[in-house]
Amino acid sequence: MTNTRPPVALIGAGPGDPELITRKAARLLQAADVVFHDALIDRGVLALARPGARLVAVGKRGGRASTPQLAIHEQLIRAWRAGLRVARLKGGDPFIFGRGGEECMALRAAGIPYEVVPGVTSGSAAATYAGVPLTYRAMSQSVLFLTGRRARGTDAIDWVAVARAADTLVIYMGVESLPILCAELLRAGRSPSTPALAVEWATINQREVAAPLAEFVGACGHAEIKSPAIIVIGDVVALRDTLAFAPAPTARGVCCAAS
Ligand code: SAH
Repeated sequence: MTNTRPPVALIGAGPGDPELITRKAARLLQAADVVFHDALIDRGVLALARPGARLVAVGKRGGRASTPQLAIHEQLIRAWRAGLRVARLKGGDPFIFGRGGEECMALRAAGIPYEVVPGVTSGSAAATYAGVPLTYRAMSQSVLFLTGRRARGTDAIDWVAVARAADTLVIYMGVESLPILCAELLRAGRSPSTPALAVEWATINQREVAAPLAEFVGACGHAEIKSPAIIVIGDVVALRDTLAFAPAPTARGVCCAAS
């Protein structure tokens, strides 16, 4: 086997808005014969693939029935061995809660070359589009990205450590476990008045709900916040009242012509 063939490209699609994809991601997407993509990828991003490329949905939605991870690995390996130019398109950044690392491990074990294109992660994009800087001098000097869902067989989360680990917490996959998350953070010493924010469908159809931590679960329930959503907890959330802006609308006509 020679390594002169193009590697499998693990591509970060960004948070949703097709204009938030990188130029490198768009170029490699356009070059692919087959694109294995997550369920959350916006049509406008998929429309960047070249006409005639095969688009295969392999994504998961909130743990519901979907392509098992091992089957994804097998499909990537098989497609590359069949001589195709393979792209694996993943939401946000492939190496942030995206199991991109596992896919690289599988490709490596199979002796298949790969490259990874970073993407704008939803945790950062959601906060930014809401007018919340995740860091702010004298208010937030550290940010913690964490998942609200634990992989089976992993240790229980040390909530006291989490609550103290960073000024700003950014929680992915946190909607289902929100009541537990908030209760644990309060118990671990975070103030009930800490500002908290949920951002649903960031950058595409963004909906935001903010409330003090002690009232946050009720506020999200009332607004029927559903997955996908990013939760931001910390004093910086209060800056939204001053810094919120209207993001420029996406040039849908350009990106989605084929969808
Ligand atoms: N690799 C991705 C994260 C994958 S985990 C990234 O870097 O963004 C999936 C979780 O990401 C979702 O449950 C949700 O918490 C978050 N997410 C992804 N896209 C989102 C979006 N457009 N709006 C809000 N949250 C999103």
